[in-house]
Amino acid sequence: MIIPMHELLKEAKKGKYGVAAPNVFNRETIEACFLAAKELRAPIILDVAGVHGIYECADIARFYERRYPEVPVALNLDHGGPYEDIVNAIHAGFSSVMIDRSQSSFEDNVKETSEIVKIAHACGISVEAELGHVGQAYEYDKTRDSGLTRPEEASDFLKQTQVDCLAVAVGTSHGVYQGECKIDFPLLDTLAAQIEQPLVLHGGSGSGDENLRKTIEHGIQKVNLNTDLVMSGLDRIQASCKNNFEIKVPAGVNMDEFTTKRMNMQQLYALGADGYKEKLMHYMKLFKSNGRW
Ligand SMILES: [Zn+2]
Repeated sequence: MIIPMHELLKEAKKGKYGVAAPNVFNRETIEACFLAAKELRAPIILDVAGVHGIYECADIARFYERRYPEVPVALNLDHGGPYEDIVNAIHAGFSSVMIDRSQSSFEDNVKETSEIVKIAHACGISVEAELGHVGQAYEYDKTRDSGLTRPEEASDFLKQTQVDCLAVAVGTSHGVYQGECKIDFPLLDTLAAQIEQPLVLHGGSGSGDENLRKTIEHGIQKVNLNTDLVMSGLDRIQASCKNNFEIKVPAGVNMDEFTTKRMNMQQLYALGADGYKEKLMHYMKLFKSNGRW
């Protein structure tokens, strides 16, 4: 069932585990998430970016919600940018929205986030905001330190905005890291000690299993994942294709009966979804969210 995100995260905080929040963008990835969650009895958060189709993804998620009503799932708008996107997500039936004003001034971040909180809470929907700024991994050496969340701002931000969970910048980054991911665990400890609301880690991919396991021990409840999952899907596609997408014929299979030896799109999507799902399940187990329902 699709439920407000703060309910999933409150349970995670109580149980000291992390919930995987994969980016989804089509039927295959949404189905893979439901299947992974069902197989491992893990809660899951579907993160949808505005560019990937707010209404489309909401409808697909509701289709799988009806098929697998036992799966506890939150549908969250990832990095909500334009005001219209955020309102559309609420209208489309999302159970959570992120408003990302992490590159605005503290005052503007507070002001615009508070406005969304007022609307979302009136509809029973959770809000995630970001304080500090999680940058892009290709410029990690330039942005890692400048974006770190400042603990002296955090309590004030939460009091003023009343958000349900907070994305913090503690050294991770989006995409493929240039160099090695360095997480500031003392900073995370300071934030976790003073913040009651669940904490969100963006840029989980490529951060390393040991780092991610530790961030959960140190107070993270939601881990956003994209790059590692889609790379795993692409690896699966690549491994199953020869040049020019000819099917690699399994031993003992007589291909003469087929009209074509070329891989078709359906097979490619299915292979991609398999790789995506496998990596997602790896992370669900790493975050100790399996067996929670
Ligand atoms: Zn992010």
